Amino acid sequence: MTSNKKTFTIIPGLNMGLFSPQELEQIVAIINKHDVPMTKITGAQRLALLGMDEEDQMKLKAELKPLTRPVAVNSFHYVQACPGSKWCKFGTSDAPALGARIEQISFAEPLPGKVKIGIAGCRMCCTEPYVRDIGIFASKKGWTLVFGGNGGGNPRIGDIVAEGLTDDQVIDLLQKCLAVYQQNAKTKSRTARFMERFGIDALKQAVLSE
Ligand code: SF4
Repeated sequence: MTSNKKTFTIIPGLNMGLFSPQELEQIVAIINKHDVPMTKITGAQRLALLGMDEEDQMKLKAELKPLTRPVAVNSFHYVQACPGSKWCKFGTSDAPALGARIEQISFAEPLPGKVKIGIAGCRMCCTEPYVRDIGIFASKKGWTLVFGGNGGGNPRIGDIVAEGLTDDQVIDLLQKCLAVYQQNAKTKSRTARFMERFGIDALKQAVLSE
């Protein structure tokens, strides 16, 4: 929930933009019941309900709770995924299935900064993995892992860490990259700024040397 001090926004935890027709019907019924002023699919593939006053926001929050997936503590800011090979003719790997596994990862300590993840089921990279903290995209050889991208006001193209990875290998490797980030980044430093200082060669040496 966020606030601009006058109106409030609720973003239910429907990550990767996935919800069933039943969930959608229930959300629409709640939106109509409370006459929510503005609804929007965010750039992060989430649903934002905007413009309520504080009292309405509290009521909506309670009603949406059963539809909201729990957010893991010390985890990722969000995980985006494209439809992947199951639903897109260009896809070579199942991006939402990998995203569902990655969403479950949590850490003993908070990450230094927000970590946004974009997963794409082919090299067309519809979820913009090169400008996410962690980007993952598929080719016929397997997954490619990109680290340290950012699409904000000081953008950075992420560095390729490894290619041709299986689901298990890419999950293992992203956790190793994040361990290095946790151990070496200053608090609030995003992966892009960290990588400018640390460098891809040092990261590769740390995570690929075993
Ligand atoms: S990245 Fe590839 S698989 Fe995913 S939606 Fe785009 S074209 Fe389809």
